[in-house]
Amino acid sequence: MSGDGLQAALREAVGAAELLSGAVIEPRYHTDLRGQPRPRPAFVVRPASTDEVAAVLRAAQRFATPVTTQGGRTGVVGGADAEAHGIVLSLERMNRILDLDPASMTMTLEAGCILQTAQEQAESQGLLLPLDLGARGSATVGGNIATNAGGVRVLRWGMMRDMVLGLEAVLADGTILSGLRKIIKDNAGYDLKQLLIGSEGTLGVVTKAVLRLRPMPTSTQTALVAVPRFAHAITLLRRLEGALAGTLSSFEVMWDDFYTLTTTVNAAKQSAPLPPGAPFYVLAEAMGAEPERDAARFESVLADALADGLGTDAVIAQSEAERQRLWAVREDLNAPMARLWPLFAFDVSVPVAEMEAFVDEAKACVGIIFPDSRFVTYGHIGDGNLHLMVGVGRADADAHHAVDTAIFKTVRHFNGSISAEHGIGTAKRDYIGYSRTPAELALMKTIKTAMDPAGILNPGKLLPA
Ligand SMILES: Cc1cc2nc3c(=O)[nH]c(=O)nc-3n(C[C@H](O)[C@H](O)[C@H](O)COP(=O)(O)OP(=O)(O)OC[C@H]3O[C@@H](n4cnc5c(N)ncnc54)[C@H](O)[C@@H]3O)c2cc1C
Repeated sequence: MSGDGLQAALREAVGAAELLSGAVIEPRYHTDLRGQPRPRPAFVVRPASTDEVAAVLRAAQRFATPVTTQGGRTGVVGGADAEAHGIVLSLERMNRILDLDPASMTMTLEAGCILQTAQEQAESQGLLLPLDLGARGSATVGGNIATNAGGVRVLRWGMMRDMVLGLEAVLADGTILSGLRKIIKDNAGYDLKQLLIGSEGTLGVVTKAVLRLRPMPTSTQTALVAVPRFAHAITLLRRLEGALAGTLSSFEVMWDDFYTLTTTVNAAKQSAPLPPGAPFYVLAEAMGAEPERDAARFESVLADALADGLGTDAVIAQSEAERQRLWAVREDLNAPMARLWPLFAFDVSVPVAEMEAFVDEAKACVGIIFPDSRFVTYGHIGDGNLHLMVGVGRADADAHHAVDTAIFKTVRHFNGSISAEHGIGTAKRDYIGYSRTPAELALMKTIKTAMDPAGILNPGKLLPA
């Protein structure tokens, strides 16, 4: 079959104006987050409907051509990188919110809708779409679904998997799997939508979703607490969970290396909310429905915790601007990370009780190979999710492999996961065996082959060859 034949079929699928090829393809379709070039695909298609997506996949299957689905391209594991001879299927034109149903507390939308747009639309109706993450302004809901995104409120509302009630997706052969249901309880056989959630574009293209919304909290309390020991951070977490009647929404922990780096590098923008020097810093946030009582309760629970020695110092945000300043310490990472570059980034999970031991062992393992290595550590401790930034002064493939192996062996030792929320993509594909047994991997391959026998959907991602 000729390239001309494929081009004609794609043109028929989406129309000439939405089929790009050659030099017309803008760098944003083949550049990573740091602006580094990635393979340029042969074609970019920008369908406007599910039927057009189906026509693209039928053409790709007929001409045995790989398809990489792209949302906002904020993924950090190479999952949206194109194949040089392949097709990029961009969902950017399928970005409409189709229905907001306050009675059912659901939102039905197209997969290319930007997360922040969906959040704001829900908010305009007094409702909350709980998923929230630093890339909210560019990431799409389809990408969030395909990576089963987590973020800063998993502790209370779960991951994307917990927010998707219904899904529409197109399978490799162009079959439209239509399951846009607004129901919470549905035990009618296998839960197919859950198979697609977190599948990183390897089993189908998500085209629409029904998301579960929640009542919008009317009060938010946010505090930064200096904590003397990691065990105290866990005690503080459990105490806040219990005493705040289920309203604790975020509980982020920053090791002193992280806090010192971000507050030093960003010092020109704002001063550190608490002095550096404590071993750990906790950013805790509760969202409730009784503003005055919530604030008083939050303050008194925190005061008791400090009196009991769980924290040595604390600051509570008194306004939205102060709240944003506290969150900036945790989320304003561009300049700090640039300072640490080159670095290798990890997103792992281990049991909460063993997080500190894990970090110590990971540092020791990397330190044997690179005695001058530098760690910067933070995480969503309530979820057992740690982000490690490791700098060893080099970025070559040998160093990367050595650090990856040291970290992932430690993850295996603690029976954790090599990917807490970012996914596998190409970055961790060859290490997935550190988190999955041979039997689990064999079943994943069986599923992949059954759903995509020609292997056109995002080949080379998630599963090793
Ligand atoms: C500053 C920053 C902060 C972040 N914070 C978090 C965080 O806290 N938690 C977290 O989980 N992630 C986080 N991420 C990672 C990233 O934002 C998420 O993975 C996001 O969900 C990806 O969405 P996207 O639209 O950008 O997807 P892309 O990057 O475009 O794609 C990601 C993967 O999903 C596939 N895909 C995309 N759309 C579809 C679709 N419609 N159908 C099928 N497959 C599809 C792609 O093929 C690829 O494999 C962060 C990233 C950045 C840059």
